Amino acid sequence: MTTPTCAICQKPVPPRTENSAFPFCSKRCRAVDLGRWLGEEYRVPDRQADEREDELPADSHPERQRGDA
Ligand SMILES: [Zn+2]
Repeated sequence: MTTPTCAICQKPVPPRTENSAFPFCSKRCRAVDLGRWLGEEYRVPDRQADEREDELPADSHPERQRGDA
């Protein structure tokens, strides 16, 4: 039995029994595919963009730390 790969990111897809997003590797990839079916490129919602910003290390915001008033 070959491991299926995600059509979106080409990663191995976990078995259906433990993967509610099957046949995609994750719900995110399933959403990407759904967006394509709907005829529009996948866009990252603003909320996720905020989360991505939070993932940046504090060093990436030197301006905030200087605080020269
Ligand atoms: Zn994927």
